Formats: sequence, C-alpha cells, structure tokens
Amino acid sequence: MILPTISPTPDLRPGSENQTATAAPAVLTPGASPGKTQIAADLPPAGLSFDPPSSDLFAVDPIQQTQSLAAVAALIAECRKCKLCERRTNTVPGEGPATARLVVIGEGPGKTEDETGRPFVGRAGELLTKILEAIKLPRDQVFICNVVKCRPPENRLPQYDEIAACLPYLHRQIELVKPKVILAMGGTAAQSVLNTKQSLGSLRNQVHRFRGTPVIVTYHPAALLRNPNWKRPTWDDVRIAARLLER
Ligand code: URA
Ligand code: SF4
Repeated sequence: MILPTISPTPDLRPGSENQTATAAPAVLTPGASPGKTQIAADLPPAGLSFDPPSSDLFAVDPIQQTQSLAAVAALIAECRKCKLCERRTNTVPGEGPATARLVVIGEGPGKTEDETGRPFVGRAGELLTKILEAIKLPRDQVFICNVVKCRPPENRLPQYDEIAACLPYLHRQIELVKPKVILAMGGTAAQSVLNTKQSLGSLRNQVHRFRGTPVIVTYHPAALLRNPNWKRPTWDDVRIAARLLER
C-alpha cells in the first residue's frame, strides 16, 4: 500500500494531523477521495473472519435479551461469572453512544479504570484520546470498551477462562452498536475478537471481519507508552480504520 510521506516520527498529538492532511488529502478528505475502487485497492488484504455462534433462539439468555448498552452494563455490574469479580472495585462496562461508528476494544481495566468504572482514563487512555483526535474523532463519539470488564489483579493478562466468561458481553455490545469499524488494540483484544492465537504482528495490516464488520488490529496504547517505535505503525493502522469509516 502506498503511504503518503509524513514526518519521520509522526506523533499522535492533535494538530500533528495537519502535516498528514496536506500530504494526503486524497486519503483523508472525503471530498477529495479518489473513488471507492482506488480506496479499496489501497486497503490491506483481507484477513481472518470470525462469526461467533449465535445464541440458541429458545434459550433465555439475559445477555441476549438486553436491548440497550445500559442494560448490558447493568448485567455486568452484577456479574460473578469469573474470578475477576472478587477483587474489583467497579465493573468497567465501556462507554460511548449507541450510535458510534467506531468501537475501540482494549484488554481490561487498569487501576484508574477500576477506581472510576470508566474505560481508558489513565495514561493509556489519554494517548487513546489523542489517537482518536488525530483522525478527527472526538472520544465521546466512539464506543470504548475492553475484553474483560473487571480489573485483573496487578494488571496481569486476562486468562482464557476469564475472557471466555466475559466475551458474550462484548459480543452483545457490538451487536447493539452495529459499528462501521472495530479497532482492536493489543494482542488480547485482537485475539479475542478474532478468535485466534496468531500474534499481533501477524494480524496487523489486514482487514479482518467480525460478523461482517471490518476489524483493524493495532498496538495497545499502553505498549506505545513503553515503546514509542510502535507509534508509526499504529498511526498507519488507525488511518486505515479512518478510511474504512469514510466509505
Ligand atoms: N488498558 C486497557 O486495555 N483498557 C483500559 O480501559 C485502560 C487501559
Ligand atoms: Fe463477569 Fe466479565 Fe467481570 Fe468476569 S470480568 S466477573 S465475566 S464482568
């Protein structure tokens, strides 16, 4: 794919998109779009596609019965389906409008998130806000959530049984929001949403699908704070998501 020339270390601060916008109006400005065919040709190739099993029509599954994000959050608030319930302060269901065109998925709540009940409000969250601003998406227009809704102790990785217990909530949230694009940030989000064990590195740079909805995979903002070299590839990924949103 042909990438426009941008500064060698593109930062993700608001304002830094000006360089890109002038360098690549055809990519990011809807009016100057070169047309759908060319946009499609510029996109990375198709990757994994995952259709999670639909629920049993005759079973009374409370998660499937929910008709709003608030109803899903209410079930999460009471949830004790995995051991992460034992040490949580607050559940962190996720937040954002039901009309969001983009759903961002992280791994799980950290300390600040556990204390506040809100997703991505610590340092990683500030970086996520900047990343979204760089593609002209105010954070409050995006539905932001995590794979697990309760904080893993000492921020350890969520375990397989915890992810499996919690995923139905995420699946229902996606079903209710019906986003145009899903951005999976970090290995846990990518592997959970796409139901694969493939590494983040091998999942990047492809347009995956979850029940037909395009899924873009990129680094987790917390990883970017540790390794600034990943900012540039993240910026590339996020721009792919932005282009898919324009279509
Ligand atoms: N990291 C995550 O994955 N999610 C949050 O909400 C915060 C940090
Ligand atoms: Fe329930 Fe998910 Fe919390 Fe586990 S992490 S207790 S499945 S809400």
